[in-house]
Amino acid sequence: MRKNLIIAIDGYSSCGKSTLAKALAKKLGFIYIDSGAMYRAVTLFFLRNKVDMNNQNSINDALQQIELNFHARDYESHILLNGEEVSDEIRQMPVSENVSEVSANKQVRHDMVKQQQRMGKSKNIVMDGRDIGTAVFEDAQVKFFMTADPKIRAERRYKELLSKGDTSITLEEVFENLAHRDYADTTRTESPLTRAEDAIVLDNTELTQAQQLAFALEKAQPFLK
Ligand code: C5P
Repeated sequence: MRKNLIIAIDGYSSCGKSTLAKALAKKLGFIYIDSGAMYRAVTLFFLRNKVDMNNQNSINDALQQIELNFHARDYESHILLNGEEVSDEIRQMPVSENVSEVSANKQVRHDMVKQQQRMGKSKNIVMDGRDIGTAVFEDAQVKFFMTADPKIRAERRYKELLSKGDTSITLEEVFENLAHRDYADTTRTESPLTRAEDAIVLDNTELTQAQQLAFALEKAQPFLK
């Protein structure tokens, strides 16, 4: 199989993008890259260091101090922020509540996109996010745009947080956070979330994980030879 096949998965918050991306990467032996984890890790650094989001110089200085690395383990995405494993902390509410503001910043996006493009060079990858098929890899051979009923998405994310022992949040708060992020992500000036013209829409409201994987594999099949 040729090297440099890119599967781009974009879509709304908590649509199961990373579940599908991981499953596809595992099945095909591709590298999985969770671009949202990068924006989340930057947000965590900004929160910890009280970076003023209204001061572009502070943002630029902070970005210079951040090094992100992925640790591939069983196709789970483990992200290191300056050498520290922060995969759990970046999923908690303080980060979720601030990540859309941070990711709307032009310089933040510029830095992340550059790193993402480097990671995809001469490799077979599955990357999920909001702008993968429209900005990071416009030429990706296979693009999916995922969506699902917002109530179902909130329930799924709520259960996931509970299963990780996070009982500090209600279902309503999760729903509000998803709605807020969807709004912010689709209306921002810098590469807003939108469906690439050539992206295949995948609504998984009524699909099991196995069904959505089968759907995606079938669509990717022609490019795998
Ligand atoms: O994918 P996840 O929900 O973890 O992403 C968190 C946030 O990061 C999104 O709500 C969005 O604001 C931002 N993001 C982005 N571009 C990407 C991936 C994530 O702006 N490619």
